[in-house]
Amino acid sequence: MLMLKVCHACDSILGEIELDDLTGEVPDSIMDIVGNVAYALCPDCMRQLDVEPDRVLH
Ligand SMILES: [Zn+2]
Repeated sequence: MLMLKVCHACDSILGEIELDDLTGEVPDSIMDIVGNVAYALCPDCMRQLDVEPDRVLH
């Protein structure tokens, strides 16, 4: 199953990922799958979270 990977914080498209079995192990543990879109964090937003752990995401 081909899914679109989108950044949770800034909505930038990170690419497409292939998931054969959604009940199996998800490669990215922070990924949140809605429909055929997998929300994750892009490296920039990930870094911001590291720098500012108290920052609240929308
Ligand atoms: Zn981002």
